[in-house]
Amino acid sequence: MTSYPLLTSPAVVGGLELQSRTVMGSMHTGLEDRPWHVDELAAFFAERAAGGAGLIVTGGYSPNIRGWLLPFGSQMTTRLNAVRHQRVTDAVHENGGKIALQLLHAGRYGYTPFSVSASATKSPITPFKASALSTRAVERTIDDFVASARLARKAGYDGVEVMGSEGYLINQFLAARTNRRTDKWGGSAEKRMRFPVEVVRRIRQELPDFFVMYRMSLLDLVPDGQTWEETAELAHRIEAAGASVINTGIGWHEARVPTIVTSVPRAAFVDSTLRLKEVVSIPVCASNRINTPDVAESVLARGVDLVSMARPFLADPDFVAKARDGRADEVNTCIGCNQACLDHTFRAKRASCLVNPRACHETSLVLGPTRTAKRVAVVGGGPAGLSTAVSAAERGHDVTLFEADDEIGGQFRLAMQIPGKEEFAETLRYYRRRMEVLGVNLKLGTRATPELLAGYDQVVVATGVEPRTPAIPGIDHPKVVSYPDAITGRVDVGQRVAVIGAGGIGFDVTELLAHEDGETLEEWKAHWGVADPAVVRGGVTDKTPRAPKREVWLLQRKESAQGKGLGKTTGWVHRAVVKDLGVHQLSGVSYDRVDDAGLHITVDGRAQVLDVDHVVVCAGQESVRSLYDDLLASGFPGAVHLIGGADLAAELDAKRAIKQGTELAAAL
Ligand code: NAP
Ligand code: SF4
Repeated sequence: MTSYPLLTSPAVVGGLELQSRTVMGSMHTGLEDRPWHVDELAAFFAERAAGGAGLIVTGGYSPNIRGWLLPFGSQMTTRLNAVRHQRVTDAVHENGGKIALQLLHAGRYGYTPFSVSASATKSPITPFKASALSTRAVERTIDDFVASARLARKAGYDGVEVMGSEGYLINQFLAARTNRRTDKWGGSAEKRMRFPVEVVRRIRQELPDFFVMYRMSLLDLVPDGQTWEETAELAHRIEAAGASVINTGIGWHEARVPTIVTSVPRAAFVDSTLRLKEVVSIPVCASNRINTPDVAESVLARGVDLVSMARPFLADPDFVAKARDGRADEVNTCIGCNQACLDHTFRAKRASCLVNPRACHETSLVLGPTRTAKRVAVVGGGPAGLSTAVSAAERGHDVTLFEADDEIGGQFRLAMQIPGKEEFAETLRYYRRRMEVLGVNLKLGTRATPELLAGYDQVVVATGVEPRTPAIPGIDHPKVVSYPDAITGRVDVGQRVAVIGAGGIGFDVTELLAHEDGETLEEWKAHWGVADPAVVRGGVTDKTPRAPKREVWLLQRKESAQGKGLGKTTGWVHRAVVKDLGVHQLSGVSYDRVDDAGLHITVDGRAQVLDVDHVVVCAGQESVRSLYDDLLASGFPGAVHLIGGADLAAELDAKRAIKQGTELAAAL
C-alpha cells in the first residue's frame, strides 16, 4: 500500500481515466512556438507521462493571431498545426498519460501591437495598448475557440483547458477593471460572464464527448476584480455550460501579491478551491505552491479532486512514480525560485529548471549509462559538486565526494536559513538521499589534497567561493561580520545593523535580520493585503504594516535603484518586503571607515556616521581554487575540471553551478 493513496491511485475524473490525481499545470516552455521543436516538446511531455503525471496540460495556444502572447507565438489554428501535434499526443499516450491542449487568448497581455481586449486598455506589464473587440469580433473569437478545440481533438488531445484566469482575455471580460463595454458582453456582472460561458457552451455543443477543463480565477488580487459571489455564479454557469472540471488560478499577472514564489506558504490558496467545491458538483482542481507528495496528498485529503502542479514536474518528471514506489525522499523538489523557468519565459528564453537542467533539454542533455566506468573524485559539496556527483553516479561512475565541512550544501546551507527560502533544504535532502541510493562515497570533514586524490581518473574541483573582504579602513573591527556568520548565527547580530552590498545576498541578509520569525499564513496574507473576495472585490486590500525586528541600513556604491539585478519575477517581491520592513536604503555610498562609533559613510558629498552595532559585509565572493592550482602545479596525471563558483565567482549562482555540474557529468 502506497503512503500517497489519493495522489498516486488511478481515477476517473471528468470522464477521463487518469493514472494519478495530478494535473501537470500549463507552462509556457518556449518549445511551443516553433514547429521544429515539436519532437523536443514530445520528449519533454513523454518523460512526465512515464513518471506518472495524470493529466498534462500544454502551454497556452492561441485560437487566433490577435490572441498571440508573443509575435508569431503558439497557436492552434490550422490542420497542419493539428497534424504536427500528433507527435506530442502519441508520445504522451504511449507512456500512459493523458494530455489537454490549453486554449489561451492573451488579450491585453499580448506582446504585440495588435492585441485586443474587452475594452481599449493597457496592462501595467505590457508596452502596447490593446484595442477593444467589436461585438462581431467577440462572436468570431468564440468561433475561433471552438475551431481550436476541434483541431485539438483532431490532433489526438484528450481535451482542452480554457484559460480563464491569470488576467488573460477571458479574465479581462470578467472584471469591471478591464471590461467597460455597454453591449451584451459587458455592463453588468451577468453580461461580463457571458463570454467565458459562451466559449464553454459552444465547445461542448460542437464536441459533446470531449473533456473540457475551465481554469477559473478564484482570487483576482487586483482592484476592481471579481467578488466571491460573482465567481460562484460563474462557476454555476460554467458547469451548466458543460465543463468537465474546474481548475483554479490565483492572481492576475499584474497583481502585486506573490502567488507562486518560494516565500508564498505552501498550499496557501487551497481554502478558495474548497470553497468552490461547495458550490459545484463537477470535480475541482487545486493549484499554487503544492510541491511535495505530502502537501499534494494532504490537499486531496481535504476534499479536492485533483492537484495541479506545474513547476514540480519540471524539477522532477518522476514525482508521482517516486511517491507511488515509496521513494518520496528521492523527489527533486521545486524550490519556487523561478530562476530557470519563469525568469526565462519572461525573457523569451527556453524554460528549464534550476534543480533539473535536463528539463526541456531531454533530447540534448542525456545522462545515459557510461561504457567505461571511471573513478571520479568531486571536491566540494555545494550545488556544483553535488550535481556532478549524483549525475556521474547515475551514469555508473565510481564517485567519491570530498567536503571539508561536516555537512553538504555550501551556499545552499546559508540560503535555507533565509525567511521564505526554507525550500532550499529540500534540494539538499534530495542530493543526500540520491547519493545514498547511488552509493556515492561521501567523505565529510575531509579537505582534499593532491595526495588524497592520487589514483582518481577524473577530479572535479567545485571548491566554491569565500566572501569578499572589501578594503575599507577598520574592516577588522569587531563590529564587522561576514554574511555567513550573520546567517548561521555564529555572531549574535545587534539591533541596529548596516549591510554593505545590496546584491542577492545583501537583500537576503536584510530580510533575515529585519523579518519577524514564524509568520503564519494569516499574517502573510495580511502583510500582502490578501482579503476575502466575499468582503472585498478582487480579494485585495491595504497591506498590514510589518513590524521590523531590527533597524537595518542597506547600502551600495552604485547610484542605481537597489535590487535591479535580482530575478525578473522574484526581485519585485524582495524589493517590496525590504521597503515594507522600513529598511533605510542608501545608494551612491562610499565607505570611509568602521570604528567604535559605527560605519562612517559619505553620500552625496555629505559625511555621516551610522551608529550601528554591527556591519554585515555582503560584498560578493571570490573563487576558492587553491586546490586546483596545486593539482595543476603538481602535474596531476588524471583529468582535472574546475566548475561552479570556484570557476567563476562573478554572478555566482546555483543555476549555472548545477547546470555546469550536470553537463560535465554527461560528458565524463
Ligand atoms: P552580488 O549580487 O554580486 O552583489 C554584491 C554586492 O556587493 C553588490 O551590490 C556590490 O554593489 C557590492 N560590492 C562588490 N564589491 C564590493 C566592494 N569591494 N566593496 C563594497 N561593496 C562591494 O553578489 P551576492 O549578493 O553575493 O550574490 C551572489 C549571487 O548569488 C548573485 O549573483 C545571485 O545570482 C545569487 N543570489 C541571488 C539572490 C536573489 O536573486 N534573491 C539571492 C541570493 C543570492 P556596489 O558595487 O554597488 O557597492
Ligand atoms: Fe521550481 Fe526553480 Fe525549477 Fe522553476 S527553476 S521549476 S521554480 S526549482
